[in-house]
Amino acid sequence: MISAFARILLFLVFATGIWAIYLHERPPTAQMGVRHIERLRGQPVVALTIDDGPHPLTTPLILETLKQMNVKATFFVVGKMMRRYPELARRIVEDGHALGNHTENHLRLTELTPAQVAREIERGFEAIDAVQRQPLRLFRPPGGGLNNIVLNYLHKHQIVLALWSLNPGDWSLLEAQPITDYVDKHLQAGDIILLHDGGVGTCQALPHIIRSIRKRGWRTVTVPEMLAMQRDT
Ligand SMILES: [Zn+2]
Repeated sequence: MISAFARILLFLVFATGIWAIYLHERPPTAQMGVRHIERLRGQPVVALTIDDGPHPLTTPLILETLKQMNVKATFFVVGKMMRRYPELARRIVEDGHALGNHTENHLRLTELTPAQVAREIERGFEAIDAVQRQPLRLFRPPGGGLNNIVLNYLHKHQIVLALWSLNPGDWSLLEAQPITDYVDKHLQAGDIILLHDGGVGTCQALPHIIRSIRKRGWRTVTVPEMLAMQRDT
């Protein structure tokens, strides 16, 4: 026979376990309230997004291709890179591309305290504002890493969360061919394509990706343009 004390102890252990599982598994409280951009299903548009720059070797090449092919993209820039290469940062906005915040140091936000998360995001926006204040506060976390702390911050400050819908994995591929193959196989109308500054393969793949979008009768848009379309549909 189990004593009353043992029964209480057993109950407490059980209840604590359930509570711990709930705390761990529950959906982020602010997730539903955070304004965000999603793939525009069925719409004949594609958004090209370029993360992690500006980069001294690849940003000029990417900008040249975009200019020649008359395409506007969205650059999710890293604050410290903006400060290190202000000339390139200015060229991105002068060419008419949109800027989004990709934090100050490209750290994994899910491993930081609330104060550190706030600083990473604030400093990222400061670096953008120093070049050109964007009408829309766009944010993409490094690696897509999100938790309650990040989501609550975005919600509180009315920042738009901009993830992606197509990831060709270009950051890990040196060659253009596997990047273009992936895009050709998986591209859908309304996609937000994730690309990265820093890789030669991405620069070589970019003209093919743009042609591939146009061959299907679709056009390229920036993330703010896509967001405006999302509101209207
Ligand atoms: Zn990144």
